[in-house]
Parts: sequence; structure tokens; C-alpha cells
Amino acid sequence: MSVAASSSAGTTVNDLITLPCPHCATLNRVPGARLTENPTCGRCKQALFNGHPVALGSANFDQVAMRGDLPVIVDFWATWCGPCQHFAPVFVAAAQRHEPRLRFAKLDTDAAQDIAGRFAIRSIPTLVLLQGGRELARQSGALPAGRLDAFIAEALGR
Ligand code: ZN
Repeated sequence: MSVAASSSAGTTVNDLITLPCPHCATLNRVPGARLTENPTCGRCKQALFNGHPVALGSANFDQVAMRGDLPVIVDFWATWCGPCQHFAPVFVAAAQRHEPRLRFAKLDTDAAQDIAGRFAIRSIPTLVLLQGGRELARQSGALPAGRLDAFIAEALGR
């Protein structure tokens, strides 16, 4: 086995990804290479990813969507919104394609008006892509799958 010379201090071979549990909000640290191996939460033992968007509300939005290393895409929606209902299965299918590279989440704007107000959501559905508590991009309107993938790729620069 050859050993590559390390060129800079502070770069570790086994990068740890910080990731809030969607169920209990505990911050987990998972080696990047193990993200795809169905990691579970160290505290509540539930799966950190299950191929389905996480339902967020006022109580857990900041803990789950605004912390950690992974990008989080949030679908701001409401039960009475036809285009939102139409978009829902597209968003679920995208979660199955993209997890665990990013977290998929939904926020009911009627149930969590404080969060919707903070993000100045004017129309729904609106997608907001967050990382480390910063907004990277947003897009309003129900997107077909191809445009949703393009939005994610462009926002993440890959
Ligand atoms: Zn947990």
C-alpha cells in the first residue's frame, strides 16, 4: 500500500458529515462513505433516510433544516393547493433518486405560518434549497421531474 503525502493539515481521510436526525433532531456524525449504507440515528435508532420527504413544522424546522452539512430542499406547500398536490409525487420520486446526497423536506405553510413568513413565501409550491442555514436557491411553481433535477444540479453546482 502506498501512502500519499498529505499536502495540507486539516484534511481527513474519513470525512465526517454532520447530519440532524429527522425524527429526534440529534446531530449525528456519519463518515461520508457510509451515507449510502442506510445509516441510523445514534440516539433514536431510526433511519436517517427513508426515501421519503420529512414533514417539518415550527417545532423542528430550525433543528433539522438549518443545521448540518447536507443540503436540504424544502417544499413549501398547503393542503388546499392543487398544484402542490400535483407536485407531491414528483418530489417523493426525486427524494428516492437523490437521497442521501441531500435531505428532502416539506413544510405545511398553514400549520407553520411563522416559518413561511420568515422565508417570505408568496406563492406555493415554492422550493427552497438550504445548506448550513443559508439559502442557496429557490424556485416557485410545480416543476416536472427533469426541471427539478436541473434546479438541484444547478444550485449545488454539480
Ligand atoms: Zn434520532
